[in-house]
Amino acid sequence: MTIRIAIIGAGIAGLSLASRLRDRAEVTVFEKSRGVSGRMSTRYADPFQFDHGAQYFTARNVSFQAFLAPFLADGTVQAWSPKVITLARGETPYKRDWFEPHYVAAPRMNRLCQRLAEGLDVRVGVEIRPLSPRSTEGWWLRDATDGTHGPYDWVISTAPAAQTATLLPPEFSCHEQVRAVRMEGCYSLLVGMAEPLPVAWDVAVVKDSPLAWIAANHSKPGREATAPSLLAQSTPDWAEAHINEDVPAMQALLLAEMQAVTGLDLSAPAHLATHRWRYASVAAPAGEPFLLDEQRQLAACGDWCLAGRVESAWVSADALAIALLAQL
Ligand SMILES: Cc1cc2nc3c(=O)[nH]c(=O)nc-3n(C[C@H](O)[C@H](O)[C@H](O)COP(=O)(O)OP(=O)(O)OC[C@H]3O[C@@H](n4cnc5c(N)ncnc54)[C@H](O)[C@@H]3O)c2cc1C
Repeated sequence: MTIRIAIIGAGIAGLSLASRLRDRAEVTVFEKSRGVSGRMSTRYADPFQFDHGAQYFTARNVSFQAFLAPFLADGTVQAWSPKVITLARGETPYKRDWFEPHYVAAPRMNRLCQRLAEGLDVRVGVEIRPLSPRSTEGWWLRDATDGTHGPYDWVISTAPAAQTATLLPPEFSCHEQVRAVRMEGCYSLLVGMAEPLPVAWDVAVVKDSPLAWIAANHSKPGREATAPSLLAQSTPDWAEAHINEDVPAMQALLLAEMQAVTGLDLSAPAHLATHRWRYASVAAPAGEPFLLDEQRQLAACGDWCLAGRVESAWVSADALAIALLAQL
């Protein structure tokens, strides 16, 4: 009999897990957003584009390097060697080199997950509600519009920890580890400019500021949108301190800060938007590559198991795939 598996979340963890399991099980991925990629998403605002979540990724893990190899070969993933400076108010900017390879997906960050989703049964725009107790047939999923899906033998959540804690039922044996995870927010400021930018950097790492990072998104390799698109991100601490505040007010503060640290005239951007991520980075991970309740056939994986990075999300999903394949 074919094993049926539901995976909640179509970020890199959910999609890479689904591709690993697809030959041995009937796998369905549910994603509440309109598209795949999760925190590796891209925001379109023609003629501008912004990778408003993950900016780049590293590949220190050998298995992750092997996974990336075909995508590097066909250009879906490209090495990024930006001109990086460090900025602080009242201080002379200084150049800063990166000593390990950094990668981006091309022509935009969401492309890697879009490639992973090809040929998979991915249902976007479907927000799964907290699971009800398992029936004798298996797990039934209910969505936000009261649609039902199932039954499934296994349910795996790759949603951020706080959402996984709500989604998986109280009988999930790893609840304590999920609840102990602490994630932090981030404000991403998306600024499109009508004229080319008079700057000599592609990335500015910002010190002693509510801002941590500014990237000239259009300067990343292989971009399809080349209109000047600046993407700034707040520090996790600043985001946490302001996480429930009015977004337009936070946008005004961050734009003023960006103008002050860069010296750019940002008084009349051609495009301006802000995205608030409630769960962006991982301050305290679960400390285990994945969480598995074999008896109830429930599991969870994602970056928050290990560290708040693309690579860690993939490594977590890979480890869970190996454990599940051993028993399917
Ligand atoms: C602003 C920001 C900057 C970052 N910068 C970097 C960086 O430079 N380098 C780096 O390596 N990493 C960075 N990261 C972290 C990186 O993006 C994540 O580690 C990685 O993308 C996590 O992948 P994931 O699959 O574990 O989770 P996610 O990508 O979060 O995927 C989980 C998915 O579950 C979906 N979901 C949640 N609840 C439900 C539900 N009820 N029903 C259906 N679907 C649901 C979500 O919509 C989401 O798509 C950054 C993240 C952010 C937000």
